[in-house]
Amino acid sequence: MVSRVIPVDPFDLVIFGATGDLAQRKILPALFRRFCAGQWPEGTQIIGVARRAQDDAGFRDVVRAALHEHDPTARSNAQSVAEFLRRVRYLPLDATQDQGWGDLASLLHADRIRAFYFSVGPSLFGPLAERIKAHGLTNAQTRVVVEKPFGHDLASAQALNATLARYFHESQIYRIDHYLGKETVQNLMAVRFGNMLFEPLWNSQYVDHIQITVAETVGIDGREDYYERAGAMRDMVQNHLMQLLCLIAMEPPAKFDPDAVRDEKLKVIRALDTVEPHHIVRGQFEGGQDGAGYRAVVGNPRSTTESYVALRAHVSNWRWAGTPFYLRTGKRLVARSSVINVMFKDAPHSIFGAAAGRHANMLSIRLQPNEGITLKVTIKEPGQGGMRLIDVPLDMSFAEALGPENQNPPGAYERLIMDVIRGNQTLFMRGDEVEAAWAWTDPIIAGWHARGDVPKPYDSGSTGPGDAELLMKRDGRHWQGINP
Ligand code: NAP
Repeated sequence: MVSRVIPVDPFDLVIFGATGDLAQRKILPALFRRFCAGQWPEGTQIIGVARRAQDDAGFRDVVRAALHEHDPTARSNAQSVAEFLRRVRYLPLDATQDQGWGDLASLLHADRIRAFYFSVGPSLFGPLAERIKAHGLTNAQTRVVVEKPFGHDLASAQALNATLARYFHESQIYRIDHYLGKETVQNLMAVRFGNMLFEPLWNSQYVDHIQITVAETVGIDGREDYYERAGAMRDMVQNHLMQLLCLIAMEPPAKFDPDAVRDEKLKVIRALDTVEPHHIVRGQFEGGQDGAGYRAVVGNPRSTTESYVALRAHVSNWRWAGTPFYLRTGKRLVARSSVINVMFKDAPHSIFGAAAGRHANMLSIRLQPNEGITLKVTIKEPGQGGMRLIDVPLDMSFAEALGPENQNPPGAYERLIMDVIRGNQTLFMRGDEVEAAWAWTDPIIAGWHARGDVPKPYDSGSTGPGDAELLMKRDGRHWQGINP
């Protein structure tokens, strides 16, 4: 089975913030890999923009260094790097000033797909949008890509949406959540809606509960100021975990069409109950052998920002009434692991008697590392000695199942940027989705402030604060392990 590369139409991609961390670490390496895969046609060009004064050659040196650092194949592939760089240009320009926009306009092709990637802080979205429009840079095939964070609360997200809406139609705006670009996330939809097997069981009658874990081993180094203002709730739960929850809980859309999918996701967010304070645990990592604690890292000995959240959510609709969704995410945990576990109920009656123990099916959807899906099924333990039951995994590692050609499926940024070029918004958040997610998140954060809530300390390298275990234990359940 050979993965297919479907070439896109020629495009002009302007990256604002092209000298920044995100552009160098993610966007340009992703573009390079799609170039190597043969997905770009002749004539396509990338134009890097930032304030720093440099010419094309200077920027190409910067990009070459970034590719060498962030793409393992680039060093041994000098010819492809050189060919890629020939399609890369640079223009110094300040997003808040009116000089230089005519020069940018003169680099763009009239009838070509034109994407403007805002890889800059959100305070520049307005100035950029305004100038792109004012200087006549839009054409019939214009798209704008904006990065998270999309606001820090409902009011700021509404303001950002209103600013963008002044200059662009919603169908031109691509709000990136790179979790949605992961192979397994799309596979989640394929598994649910492409098979007869799961969907009939995908409801509160058969599913006991669902666990969504996004665990990181890294801390917040290099992002202290931002993180201290954001915390895990804004940085991870409001966007990444919320999107995963939506894909798990949503009704089947009538078709795989951007608005049909996003309408269903929006209904899930709107059906979420307010989270009770005793159903949320906040944590903050302490120092250990491998580094300082959170408060030392941010230089604020009284910081009450959470680096960990666990919570119990409910989707109040017919499908999910009574089925809790447990979400947790944290920094400096024992392993890097993003996984969704769908925990099915026990069989209603055991014909094997109490000695056989209790067994329930679990569907694990692993996003990282080792993307794949595992179904835990109960079988007879081999050998003599009566009917003893054990649980074994039916494992579908995509890399193994689909053969060597598919060992390295395109990364999230590769897929998402190519979707922008194709004009496919299915994997991008719509403005009303983002606002609904903030409307659910804001009261939780406001409640913490009103109560003077202080996060519970947890050891670096652990699974999080003990109270997160209690959150489950009180319900007679337990978290699955956090395994690399
Ligand atoms: P960064 O490293 O600070 O880069 C900012 C870029 O914007 C630089 O190229 C900077 O270059 C340019 N810039 C700043 N002011 C400008 C202006 N007035 N006009 C034109 N260019 C200007 O930031 P980043 O980490 O790349 O993040 C970019 C955005 O992506 C942020 O919104 C961030 O929250 C988001 N994001 C980042 C990551 C990540 O992993 N880094 C992940 C998710 C989301 P000059 O100073 O030369 O102008």
